[in-house]
Amino acid sequence: MTTTLSSSSASGASPADETSVHTLVVGTGPAGILAALGAAAAGPVLMVDRFTLPRDKSCGGMIHPLSQQIFAEMGATMPDDLLLDPQTVYFRYNDWDKHTTYDTKLGFLNVDRKPFDEWMTSLVDGKADIWDACEYRDHEQTPDGRLRVRLNARGQERFVTCDWLIGADGSRSRVRRALGLAPFDCYVTVQDYCLRSGPVDAVFDCFWTKEVPDLAIGYVIPKNERALVGLIYYPGTKRAHEQQDHALEVLRQRLNIGESIKREAWSALKHRNVRDIVSGRGQVLLVGEAGGFLSPTSGEGISWALDSGRSAGRAIAAGGVAEEVQARHRRGTAHLRRMIAWRLRIYPVMNSRWGKTLFGITPKFLIESITNHI
Ligand SMILES: Cc1cc2nc3c(=O)[nH]c(=O)nc-3n(C[C@H](O)[C@H](O)[C@H](O)COP(=O)(O)OP(=O)(O)OC[C@H]3O[C@@H](n4cnc5c(N)ncnc54)[C@H](O)[C@@H]3O)c2cc1C
Repeated sequence: MTTTLSSSSASGASPADETSVHTLVVGTGPAGILAALGAAAAGPVLMVDRFTLPRDKSCGGMIHPLSQQIFAEMGATMPDDLLLDPQTVYFRYNDWDKHTTYDTKLGFLNVDRKPFDEWMTSLVDGKADIWDACEYRDHEQTPDGRLRVRLNARGQERFVTCDWLIGADGSRSRVRRALGLAPFDCYVTVQDYCLRSGPVDAVFDCFWTKEVPDLAIGYVIPKNERALVGLIYYPGTKRAHEQQDHALEVLRQRLNIGESIKREAWSALKHRNVRDIVSGRGQVLLVGEAGGFLSPTSGEGISWALDSGRSAGRAIAAGGVAEEVQARHRRGTAHLRRMIAWRLRIYPVMNSRWGKTLFGITPKFLIESITNHI
């Protein structure tokens, strides 16, 4: 339930300008939602988000089979009306410089992120309160061993005291920084919603070409009558909008991409190494991109956010002191850490000139199998 700030007492035990809860979750993305759902079994949960809800996060809206599996395990069914035309798109990789194309059987459900997030937020109805337009600033330990969190709620300073603080605040996580951890390097991402000048293949079409400088990877996804064109540029890319205009020109020579009717720029984390993955410290747990949980090779992040958020929620629900809860969350995310470590080892190979050449001569069945693990 998204509550107004005047009904501030999630537990009812505190003065009017202070609120006390068992768990405070910063961020209402998929990681925060799953963490809140789990932690609700242990006591009152409050979620805060710096955006007004429903938020509008830039995203390809590709729902990986692992995300679908987590929803099935939760007993949550994505409403059919979230699905766009085509409902399922299969991953296809193109190296335009080497004139190679790989079709795969890796299918993603095709949604727009905003209504998908709105549906996900509805899952916490009755389980957690949500304050939107409310930004986490910092926190301190109280003499009785709790955490006092300072928030900026619609321009007003507010304090929330909690036993557990969950940082689910994405790639530029402030909660992470409050633990003394360095911020991530970030890719610059730009997405254009384009009209079509003709048919666009019904695939999740990923491409790479030297013709677009600083490009890590790009993609075109049909979304009803439009085509979403996204490009991920390496950290430090300057004048990304000019790069994007150039990229659209390059694309128009190959695909039926028409005029852009909406553009959005965002950021996505880039791991420096496996030490970037941190599941938390003391009474603070990190989940989703804030903890470094995202595929470094494909940039797919929703299933990693769901998985790590679920782990934190379960760790809190099982109770115990900070060391026990942290150890449980570390164990609950150990498989994600291993998967990221493996991907970080293959990423430089994938990106090198000889790696791309090797890819070009690799049998298709092997590409199929590798695709399922990136
Ligand atoms: C361009 C782009 C395309 C992508 N496409 C896909 C895709 O197709 N499929 C896929 O699986 N993944 C995709 N990803 C990755 C995916 O979007 C993220 O990995 C995923 O959303 C991470 O979830 P999260 O819950 O960790 O964080 P987020 O979804 O980023 O949520 C973090 C929330 O925290 C809030 N917040 C931040 N700071 C504060 C603060 N100080 N106080 C309060 N609230 C705060 C933000 O407002 C936000 O709502 C894409 C990413 C980008 C950038």
